[in-house]
Amino acid sequence: MKGTFGQYGGQYVPPQLQGYLDELESSYEGIKKDRKFQAEMKHLLSDYVGRPSPLYLSAKLSKRLGFKVYLKREDLNHTGAHKINNTLGQALIAKHMSRKEVIAETGAGQHGVATATAAALLGLRCRIFMGEVDAEKQRLNVYRMQMLGAQVHIVKSGLRTLKEAVDEAIGYLIEHPEVYYLLGSVVGPHPYPTMVRDFQAVIGKEARKQILEKEGKLPDALVACVGGGSNAMGLFYEFLNDDVELHAVEPAGKGLETGKHAATLTLGTPGVIHGFRCLLLQDKEGNPMEVYSIASGLDYPGVGPEPSMLKDIKRLRYGTVTDKEAVDAFHMLSREEGLIPALESAHAVAYLDKERAAFKGKIVILNLSGRGDKDVETVSKLG
Ligand SMILES: *Cc1c(COP(=O)(O)O)cnc(C)c1O
Repeated sequence: MKGTFGQYGGQYVPPQLQGYLDELESSYEGIKKDRKFQAEMKHLLSDYVGRPSPLYLSAKLSKRLGFKVYLKREDLNHTGAHKINNTLGQALIAKHMSRKEVIAETGAGQHGVATATAAALLGLRCRIFMGEVDAEKQRLNVYRMQMLGAQVHIVKSGLRTLKEAVDEAIGYLIEHPEVYYLLGSVVGPHPYPTMVRDFQAVIGKEARKQILEKEGKLPDALVACVGGGSNAMGLFYEFLNDDVELHAVEPAGKGLETGKHAATLTLGTPGVIHGFRCLLLQDKEGNPMEVYSIASGLDYPGVGPEPSMLKDIKRLRYGTVTDKEAVDAFHMLSREEGLIPALESAHAVAYLDKERAAFKGKIVILNLSGRGDKDVETVSKLG
């Protein structure tokens, strides 16, 4: 099968989608080496997104933890997270494929906003599928997408959250193969996991150069939170063949023992979801389980095929952080450094604290995947 990572990945899709995926694959293979495309991407990343994002030595955090911590500042990107690196890349591919409309699903709205932004910039129509429950919780993001010119399609089936939004978006694509489906993480059928990772790999490429300038050597460890795995793979990819530890941090939610978590790498087993094989939180029938995290960007029952494979070959280390630990880290980073992190990124910060003994004497790069403005209301309601 095409696009596999060990036993994971592949294309598990209805036959009606095969043609679409084949066209996408050949378009991507063709365009990725194209000089004009590369120049356009470089231009947008620097002048529109604001790259390179700084690599910031967090002196207070380092002092507190007892080892050197550098923060890769993806929170400083336009729209406030790493997601824009990918949505711009794919929106350019959509144009190259002569598509006039992009569609995407969104949970909390972060990927929807990043997609609507790229679509507005590049003059593409945009339709975002969002569960009704999520849309009520994240009203501001619904307005944002609408202001950016997107049509927000509210999904009212099933539990009315992300899974149903994905199902409906896939259904729409089958009926309208003339649109472009813009996926938000290193998940889905081939070629998405590879393509999204390639677009996010800019994070690690920059970090490598920056740490060599600042320290004169590679870091000892990289740390990132994992939902689907795109900010993690983006940071890790450039260091896969080096003697550098890779740490993936997953949400333990209310506690692994409560069943209310999304610790896919930790507790998942091989299964198929949304067109690809990965480590999956599933019931006995192979249905995806209901998952939970206070950080909505992390609550997906699957995880990318590449991180799944890296776990199997023991290249990846992984651990979990509860809601409470993440919220404590959210406050700590805000108070100590004046940086309000996304709750997703706060999981990675909490992990450093929790596992500090394992990092003693090391140089660590932590991917600060996004800023926390979107989470201020949630955290303030916790009292
Ligand atoms: C969406 C999101 C994540 C999780 O997605 P990955 O694909 O695992 O990176 C992490 N952090 C932020 C800020 C996000 O918006």
